[in-house]
Amino acid sequence: MRNKRFYTFLHHQIPVMIALSIFPGLGYLLLGWLNGIFMPAFVWYLLIVVESLWGASLYRGFDFDTMSESRRESWYQRLSWFYYLFMLLWVLIFLLYVGHDSQKLHYIAIFTEIGASVVAAALLASDRRLFRPCILIMMVPLIIYFFFIGEWYGYVLTAFACTLAWVLLYAANSSNSLLMQADYQASHDMLTGMYNRHYFIDHLQKRMNSLRESGGFAYLLLIDLDHFKTINDSLGHDIGDLLLQQISVRLQNQLSGNIVLARLGGDEFILVGDTFSAPEPCSEAAISISEKLIATLKETYMVEQHHLYISASIGVSIVSGRSANANNFIKEADIAMYEVKAKGRDGVFMFNEEMSDRVERNLEIERLLHFALSNNEITLHYQPQVDCAGKVVGAEVLARWNNPVIGPVPPDKFITIAEQTGLIIELGKYILETGFTTLREWCEAGITLEQFSINISMRQLIHHDFIEQVEALVQSHLCSDLCGKVVFEITESVVAEDIERVISIMERLKKIGIRFSMDDFGTGYSSLNYLNRLPIDEIKIDRSFVSALGRNEGDQTMVATILKMAAIFKLSVVAEGVETADQFDFLLCNECNLFQGYYFSKPLAKDQFEVYCKDRLEPIKQA
Ligand code: C2E
Ligand code: CA
Ligand code: CA
Repeated sequence: MRNKRFYTFLHHQIPVMIALSIFPGLGYLLLGWLNGIFMPAFVWYLLIVVESLWGASLYRGFDFDTMSESRRESWYQRLSWFYYLFMLLWVLIFLLYVGHDSQKLHYIAIFTEIGASVVAAALLASDRRLFRPCILIMMVPLIIYFFFIGEWYGYVLTAFACTLAWVLLYAANSSNSLLMQADYQASHDMLTGMYNRHYFIDHLQKRMNSLRESGGFAYLLLIDLDHFKTINDSLGHDIGDLLLQQISVRLQNQLSGNIVLARLGGDEFILVGDTFSAPEPCSEAAISISEKLIATLKETYMVEQHHLYISASIGVSIVSGRSANANNFIKEADIAMYEVKAKGRDGVFMFNEEMSDRVERNLEIERLLHFALSNNEITLHYQPQVDCAGKVVGAEVLARWNNPVIGPVPPDKFITIAEQTGLIIELGKYILETGFTTLREWCEAGITLEQFSINISMRQLIHHDFIEQVEALVQSHLCSDLCGKVVFEITESVVAEDIERVISIMERLKKIGIRFSMDDFGTGYSSLNYLNRLPIDEIKIDRSFVSALGRNEGDQTMVATILKMAAIFKLSVVAEGVETADQFDFLLCNECNLFQGYYFSKPLAKDQFEVYCKDRLEPIKQA
């Protein structure tokens, strides 16, 4: 397994090998001088010095992260020759000493061979292609030497030397197996046996270096399973794990040998494909392989009597030499993958600059949002809610953000970012506090509303001190009468959360008089079952249904059905997004209680709302 660790390990052995030759080599030089073989010993030492210099240049010439695969391969070939030659040089000094009459030199030569074999077995254990020949290069001359002594003890020593050679090979092999095993564990995902993130990033870095040199392109696919969490949560992690194993087998079966596939973690997989000479065919290949993968993944799975279905969202990025950092390409594929998720999942998207600009803009919004509260850039608008007679009975609080640099940012946008970054906690608190203050001031000014609706995002609702926060704000700003007018609008995304926990939070807040409304009703996942279980007081028919009223008969039936159902569940209903008299009439005829929309008024600043209310103390007459 030739990964970064493999190369780095061999790279580290170069100076050790040089030091173990240069310094002891001086001793051999001295011995040669004392025994009248200075010249050959000197030539040998010169060779050691030359070889060491070569080693030093190999050592300096290595940088895993910037070397292409072919350069690394050629470096490795030279390194192998470097080690073989070193061993041969030690055989040379052995031959020189045993060729001399002095018995003492023979002893030293024998020790030298054994010592060098042990060094080779220990330092080169990570690579079978190196330690096996090196041990043999060192031990075979020794064995031959013992054999040719021709005396009985020579044969005994031959047998001992053979045994020692075997032991060294065996020990180095065992260390090698352990290293390989540790290496496998460090580079593979234990559940699926695929490569892991660590290995993949290394590999991608290598590919990028090669692509930079060749000017080629390769595709990177980031595959994220859709709604995998639901399977894990509903059927348990064991089933989830088995499913992941089946998925990994399917993915691997679809890919040819030179495509490297890895599990990034959780339900995310990543692969880097073949090399192309131009970006267009590369993109085409990426889309076609993605479609093939999605189709395969969508076939039914059989996991312990469960028939499971799953789809995937794939983000594609084109890898080339344009960036030095592998993570940049993964980030691009990630952005494209999130685009697929945002567009309804189960599909493939190619990263493009426009996406990246959007991400940049979102990051800029995120940065500026951090200062928006302290700079007083967030204000609240209030949209009137009217009854059947057109009398203002309530208001919905809607946040507005106008930044001096980037201008007004729509709430859908900054609220989403605030939710993602956690800023919603602080922002939500500000909205609650400002809203409560307005409600009290209006009450004091004689603008009495029956209800006052505030949007609460899910992350805010389930935050650990939300209840305490609301209780404290209610206590300092509202009397119990006013608190009874507060309605928290939550969305159907609650059902994706721990529903028991959500219910208990809602129950606690209902104790202090707060009511709940299900916002954007009909657009999400909520089932009748949830509607029955959640302590909801009101539903808001989503404006997409209201706006389709005049055009689509199906939507008329839908709205009429929602209204009938609400009556059965004893829920009040607000129709939002009412823009025309026809829509209002239809809703009136179907016994809707409350109405909100541009037909009555757009969201208004606080003072405008006050003016609007004063004009509508008497019910307005409808045509
Ligand atoms: P939402 O809660 O569904 O709010 C209603 C949205 O519909 C508002 O958009 C409102 O201006 C718009 N609207 C009202 N009547 C009409 C109409 O007749 N026609 C049309 N086309 N639109 C109408 P806005 O203010 O842009 O808010 C968008 C979303 O941002 C809100 O949707 C809500 O989800 C979120 N949001 C706004 N303020 C807050 C807030 O203070 N906290 C939280 N958590 N979310 C907020
Ligand atoms: Ca709302
Ligand atoms: Ca809504």
